[in-house]
Order: sequence, then structure tokens, then C-alpha cells
Amino acid sequence: MDVTLLEATDDPERVICTAARNDYMGEFVGDQSFEETMASVDGDSLEEKQRTLIGHLLSHGHFGPFEHPQATFAIEGMSRSCMAQITRHRHVSFDVQSMRYVAFDEVDPEAVRAGEMVVVPPSATDPDWVGRNQRSGSVDEATIEKREEVFRESVSRSVEDYQRLLDLGMAPEDARFVLPIGTKVNVVMSMNARMLMHVADMRAAADAQWEIRELTERVLELAADWCPITFDYYEENMKGRKNRLAP
Ligand SMILES: Cc1cc2nc3c(=O)[nH]c(=O)nc-3n(C[C@H](O)[C@H](O)[C@H](O)COP(=O)(O)OP(=O)(O)OC[C@H]3O[C@@H](n4cnc5c(N)ncnc54)[C@H](O)[C@@H]3O)c2cc1C
Repeated sequence: MDVTLLEATDDPERVICTAARNDYMGEFVGDQSFEETMASVDGDSLEEKQRTLIGHLLSHGHFGPFEHPQATFAIEGMSRSCMAQITRHRHVSFDVQSMRYVAFDEVDPEAVRAGEMVVVPPSATDPDWVGRNQRSGSVDEATIEKREEVFRESVSRSVEDYQRLLDLGMAPEDARFVLPIGTKVNVVMSMNARMLMHVADMRAAADAQWEIRELTERVLELAADWCPITFDYYEENMKGRKNRLAP
């Protein structure tokens, strides 16, 4: 899976701080410079003042100002299973590659076996992989080889059948019914900084599945470059804790 930041609000922490200061000031923030708006906040530099205010907001559960900045991510090659999980978040906006209109032109069985069209979970190939809800710990080489063989043969068969149905003139929107849930899809998603932290609360947690955790960790890395004070604070003080952003 590949995740990139497509677009995001410029200077998001200025927006967060301006919105938050608006709540406690007699003056109108629209008529002031950012320096004037932040004048009474503790800190020797503007960056320190932003750090003080953002830390205060997050530690006191004042999350509203974090709804103003928005980021758009492009994700290449997530499974449809992962897509079903992430699209449950109702305050995130999505565009999903359509299999009604986008058919795989030519199915190359080797590409399918190599995991180019279907996500191969680590539990199909790694004998030491320990996942959630796994019945046992590490497995021997013979078992993992068998698992991988069954997995790859099964997805190859499904994708080849899909191609045969297309060749028989079936519409892609109906032929896709035979495809595995691990079939890769490209997605664009947008959310605000508050929602991003909520998604991370739920999807970077130990009980989430490996693929959506991987996606969330990548999104968090990009968010830390985009909105550094907020996501550094989140990483150090909130991630994995009980004080989640929403029940
Ligand atoms: C480990 C794990 C296992 C899961 N297993 C399952 C499963 O087996 N089956 C299943 O169906 N789902 C499952 N889910 C999905 C989960 O139940 C949520 O539907 C999903 O994570 C969306 O999160 P959310 O409920 O916080 O809502 P979001 O859509 O992310 O909304 C954010 C917050 O807004 C508020 N909110 C949004 N909409 C409403 C509303 N209509 N009414 C009141 N408050 C609202 C809530 O406070 C909510 O937390 C699982 C999630 C995880 C992380």
C-alpha cells in the first residue's frame, strides 16, 4: 500500500490557534495579525506560543478548533476489506475506484500470484507472524508453505474466473462478484485534524487489523509533517491512551 498527502490546509496550526483564540477574545481575530492574536499566550516565540495553546486545547479536550484544517490523502492498493473498515468513519469523505467502470484489462496469473492485484496478508507467508485472533503462534515451514499455496491458488482462480466472465461479455459490475475481498483498490480520503486523531485512536490501536493499522500509521507520519505540533503532542500524550477524542 502506498499513501501520499495530496492536498492540505496551509499553515494548519495558525488556523487552529486563531479559531481557539477567537473563543476567548473581545477583539475580532479577523482584524488582527497572528502575532496580536497570540500576544497573551505563554511562550517566547510564536512557535512556543502555538505549542502552549495546542497542548492546552488537547489536554483539556477542547477539540473543536482541530476541525478547521483538512487533509486529503491518496491511497494506492488497499484491500477491499480494509476499505470496508475505513469507510465506516462517517466524518471522512471518500472517493473509491469503481469496479463498475474500471476492469482489469488483462489478468496476468503471475501478477495475481505475486500479490499485485490482491493484498497478501503476512499470515499467509510469514511463519512468525502473530496476528489478532490467531489460533496459534509461529507455525512450521511446511504449514506456512501450504497456507501460501492455498491462498495464492484461491485468489488466482477467482481473478482468472473474473477475466473469463468479462471475456464472456459479462459487465464488470456483475463479474466483480467473484473477486476476493483482498482485491486492491485505490481510494482518496479527506478529513479534518480532529477526525484524523479519532481514526488513529480506533485504527492504530492494538485490536485493529494489521492493514488498517499500517494505513493509519502512514497517515499519522504524513500528518506529523503537515501539522507537527498537534501530531507530536498526539503521539506523545494521547495515542493509545484511554482519553480518546470520541466515545
Ligand atoms: C477493532 C475494531 C473492530 C470492529 N469490529 C466491528 C464489527 O465487527 N462490526 C461492525 O459493524 N463494526 C465494527 N467496527 C467499527 C466500529 O464499530 C465503528 O463503526 C467504526 O470504527 C466507526 O467509528 P465510530 O463509531 O467512532 O464513528 P465515526 O463515524 O468515526 O464517528 C466519530 C464519532 O462521532 C460520533 N458519531 C458519529 N455518528 C454518530 C451517530 N449517528 N450517533 C451518535 N454519535 C455519532 C461518535 O462519537 C463517533 O465515535 C470495529 C472497529 C474497530 C476499531
